[in-house]
Amino acid sequence: MRKCIRCGAEMKEDFTFTGGGGNVIRHKGMGFKAVYPKVAVCPECGEVSIYIDDKDLEKLKK
Ligand SMILES: [Zn+2]
Repeated sequence: MRKCIRCGAEMKEDFTFTGGGGNVIRHKGMGFKAVYPKVAVCPECGEVSIYIDDKDLEKLKK
């Protein structure tokens, strides 16, 4: 569960970017390793947080 950094409420997770395959970020220095950012939204104050889920975090640790 992600907590809102602004108001502390529980955020709604697992929103994804859509459209055009533009939702991949790559790091040149890591052999263009791709990760897929997700979005959490706070239903209380509207704060939006972009994060990498556990599966993609594992990629970054290798
Ligand atoms: Zn909030």
